[in-house]
Amino acid sequence: MIDSHAHLFYGDFRADFEQMLERARMVGVRAIVVPGTNVQASREAVDLSARYPSIFACVGIHPHEAGAASDADVESIRDLTVAPGVVAVGEIGLDFHYDLSPRTRQQEIFHRQVLLAVEKDLPIVVHTRESIPEALDIVRSIIGDHPDWRVGQAGEKVAKRGRGVFHCFTGSAEQARELFSMGFLVSYPGIVTFKNSPVVPVIREIGLENILIETDSPYLAPVPHRGKRNEPSHLPVIAGRIAEILGTSPSEVARRTSENAIRLFALNVNVGTAQHF
Ligand SMILES: [Zn+2]
Ligand SMILES: [Zn+2]
Repeated sequence: MIDSHAHLFYGDFRADFEQMLERARMVGVRAIVVPGTNVQASREAVDLSARYPSIFACVGIHPHEAGAASDADVESIRDLTVAPGVVAVGEIGLDFHYDLSPRTRQQEIFHRQVLLAVEKDLPIVVHTRESIPEALDIVRSIIGDHPDWRVGQAGEKVAKRGRGVFHCFTGSAEQARELFSMGFLVSYPGIVTFKNSPVVPVIREIGLENILIETDSPYLAPVPHRGKRNEPSHLPVIAGRIAEILGTSPSEVARRTSENAIRLFALNVNVGTAQHF
């Protein structure tokens, strides 16, 4: 399995970092993608990736941080994209639920970072909350202007590796299908285990072809860990629940979602063999 989204640089993990990774390894988590949320956090994600071969970094400014971010910060993110271990620009996007940054600034910072991903030929990790239509508008317009973003090496029309992922996706199957048609994937965390979760019928419709799994640690712990600190070793609970929703085996969910993550982020990882973090 690959945990496609976990904030491992938070202080929450400082006391038991090695044990936390070992617990993840023991249950079959072979790689973890750590998104940045501002310049400092992006640097920490890059540092973690330099220390552990199975940790990969994203660099970016989260919508919550957009209000505090300067133009120089976007330049710093540009510099960080070329660091070893960086697999995407993220997490970037729009959050109209908490509205911690002015919406126009969120849109501006998101737009500029998507253009940065286009320039650097990297996929994006997108955060949305009550903002999927607005985020889709920005992505649509940029793809319209840059149709060759992430076109495969051999010139395939639809990007082979994908343009990005809408993480913690709570949108409809119709929105998911539009994303797939633009080369995007969607990712599901522990909300799949919550009672009456609205994402369940959507997963039933879209299947495994374009989805990733994530813990979003330290947030969104799945049932039965709800309310506690979340960590990557809880990923099998999420894979198991998706298997149940789709009437397939957890190993099939693990295999397919790992293939999708490796393809999207071009991860240098062998999920078939045990690997040291
Ligand atoms: Zn997020
Ligand atoms: Zn996140």
